[in-house]
Amino acid sequence: MTELLTLVTTDYAGITRGRSVPASRLAQGGLISTGWVPANMSLTPFDLIADPNPWGSSGDLRLLGDDRARYRVQLPGAATATHMMMADIVNLDGAPWALCPRSLLRSALADLTAATGLTLKVSFEHEFTLLDTGLPPAPAFSLRALRQADPFGSELMAAFGALEMEPEVFIAEYGRDQYEVAIGPADGVTAADRAVALREVVRELAGLRGWRATFAPKAAVAGVGNGVHIHMSFADAKGQNVTRDPSRPGQVSALMGAFAAGIVRHMPALVALTAPAPISYLRLRPHNWSSAWTWFGDCDRESSLRICPVTTLGGADPARAFNLEYRAADGCACPHLALGAVVRAGLQGITEGLADPPLFSGDPADLSGAEQDRLGLRRLPESLGEALDAFTSDTVARGWLGNLGVETYVGMKRAEIALAGDVLDDALCARYAGIY
Ligand code: GLU
Ligand code: MG
Repeated sequence: MTELLTLVTTDYAGITRGRSVPASRLAQGGLISTGWVPANMSLTPFDLIADPNPWGSSGDLRLLGDDRARYRVQLPGAATATHMMMADIVNLDGAPWALCPRSLLRSALADLTAATGLTLKVSFEHEFTLLDTGLPPAPAFSLRALRQADPFGSELMAAFGALEMEPEVFIAEYGRDQYEVAIGPADGVTAADRAVALREVVRELAGLRGWRATFAPKAAVAGVGNGVHIHMSFADAKGQNVTRDPSRPGQVSALMGAFAAGIVRHMPALVALTAPAPISYLRLRPHNWSSAWTWFGDCDRESSLRICPVTTLGGADPARAFNLEYRAADGCACPHLALGAVVRAGLQGITEGLADPPLFSGDPADLSGAEQDRLGLRRLPESLGEALDAFTSDTVARGWLGNLGVETYVGMKRAEIALAGDVLDDALCARYAGIY
């Protein structure tokens, strides 16, 4: 059998697509690239290209493989190794294509480092639901829920280990057949690449057992939501975490406070990119432990940007693992695009020298409008349509994608809304569960 190496890009629809070459091609050395088509970026999740779109049938691009970002693992029961190489979308002369999500993220991170002298360390934490398992209901968070999926968790952690993704925790979550995985932090591009590889491996491993795994934000309307939580900290040139300052509110450094302020300010626009499906807004509702407001919280799981707890157990240094968690994201989002936009929003806060957002814990709905305003608590958009409106009316946010990027993204998302229809029901959730 000929092992295949697939050059992959994860597009605006959050779907990983690509083309394969014989893996033996690696032995020849040199750059590896394949053809690509601009209009692919206007593909909706339902496999129909938005019409009209800025691209039409003309133009050609290349997928250019990144040899430092290859993910190869032989999964138990698979006929051949899963072998992917993250790729940038480039023009025929090798210059980055203006809409390439990986290049967008790389340039946002480079600008952040240029402005601060620091590196962003990132980890994507994923929740997902297993479908068609035939497993009986088991209590939330229980050992039984963990053991009855055996050896799925064990195979998963072994695969992440083989992929050098530093597997940390496998969790039976709150929902029926809902699980969560956490992996180690890395630089931003690597973290987003890992998120792509992680989703593919989870889905493939489930498929090899005759199950399905979905990262859709809701597998059913009344089901528990699947979040993607993006953890971020700043590291100095020596790799030391410099995010924590015990003398400040929430122990957040002045720089991270300004970064947080930019994110909170632009969050109504950001969710158009980080919670990008119509059914994402079934999850972003109050009292779901997801996020429903522009809300900076200290260890509060209802907040949308959360200061995570740190432990001093065993004499651990609380500064080492200190990080902020962006919670208003889900598995329908392209990890590179989502993180790139969050970084741009945070960098905007740093550039403008914004003050830390006020910290809040409680229920924003119990506050008067004036108190909500004082604390910067605004209800997040309640539908994808509202989120796209917030995005298009935020001129700073539009700049992150550029005119063609905005036209392509918003056009594709409006087409997706039309194809999804007005009714957010279990049938629509099932459709998304089949895609994500
Ligand atoms: N499932 C929740 C969400 O939709 C998160 C629960 C948790 O804090 O782990 O984001
Ligand atoms: Mg969780």
